[in-house]
Amino acid sequence: MIVVMKQGASQTEINSVIKEINDFGYADHPIVGVERTVIGAVGDEGTKFKLMEILSQLAGVEQIIPILKPYKLASHQFKQDKTIIELDNGLKIGGNEVVIMAGPCSVESREQIMESAKVVSECGASILRGGAYKPRTSPYDFQGLEGEGLKLLRSAGDTYGLPVVTEVLRERDVELVAQYADILQIGARNMQNYGLLKAVGQVDKPVLLKRGLANTVKEFLMSAEYILSQGNYRVMLCERGIRTFETATRNTLDLGAVAVLEQETHLPVIIDPSHAAGRWGLVAPLAKAGIAVGADGLIIEVHPNPHDAMSDGLQSLIPQKFCSLMKELSRIAQACDRSIAGLNKQ
Ligand code: PEP
Ligand code: MN
Repeated sequence: MIVVMKQGASQTEINSVIKEINDFGYADHPIVGVERTVIGAVGDEGTKFKLMEILSQLAGVEQIIPILKPYKLASHQFKQDKTIIELDNGLKIGGNEVVIMAGPCSVESREQIMESAKVVSECGASILRGGAYKPRTSPYDFQGLEGEGLKLLRSAGDTYGLPVVTEVLRERDVELVAQYADILQIGARNMQNYGLLKAVGQVDKPVLLKRGLANTVKEFLMSAEYILSQGNYRVMLCERGIRTFETATRNTLDLGAVAVLEQETHLPVIIDPSHAAGRWGLVAPLAKAGIAVGADGLIIEVHPNPHDAMSDGLQSLIPQKFCSLMKELSRIAQACDRSIAGLNKQ
């Protein structure tokens, strides 16, 4: 439920509301606005009517609104304004500027990640991607450089002034990955790893949550709710294609889901055209459609030499193609009254 405080409600009044919420075993999630404070209260649905009744009688309370959706904190009802996630370098995700994240599937060597960072930054990307821990279908495939990969990614990002996003596969690595990454990525295969979701919900780093291979929008939002419920409100959702009967693409990019998410949640939405396409020749049209449908950002695989890539070479763009795609994306963004973050400032 949402407890809307009266304009000018005192801190003591706000505190007694929070105390009552907590005494009921509910968690409080205050949003301090310019005009008034709104407090989200989430917990056991069974006792909500009793709690609503008590809260409605407290001083300073203007109104109590139940949130009907099962994803409470992720829902637009809880927060009308779009969430804008600001990174340490001031880059904003979720605003009018579309943010482009790019880089190789995996961090493979110092040379490879440095070269990748150089080209994606030259082409105008704002964030460097690269996996140090890789979720591979086969245990015999390259699993990532792990700790060493994190260091290389960080150093490439620092060299070219790019924040970095990288996947955390296991709960026990969260702290380490959070030391190096600006954004923690939860991969599609881990979308319902609730222990991992709670763990990233407890760190002070933005999270890019990828949609599971065969998960509904509702399940996707419930997973985001796990992270939000722990007090980490800097969550972005990533549509990366789902499994359907169609085999012409690696996955089916669910553009409809992006439009639904726009209506259902205040969280920024990112599209990954690379994992949806599975082939580099399809990445550009899907990326363009992503911006047109309203995504707040794109995450695109780019490799200096895709033939030699240790993972996902087939879907990785060569630098030159990525650069020309950026120019096309800029025109699509303009047609949608938006712009690409960082593109015109160089
Ligand atoms: C990746 O980003 O390289 C990746 C493994 O993505 P997903 O979890 O969407 O498959
Ligand atoms: Mn990949």
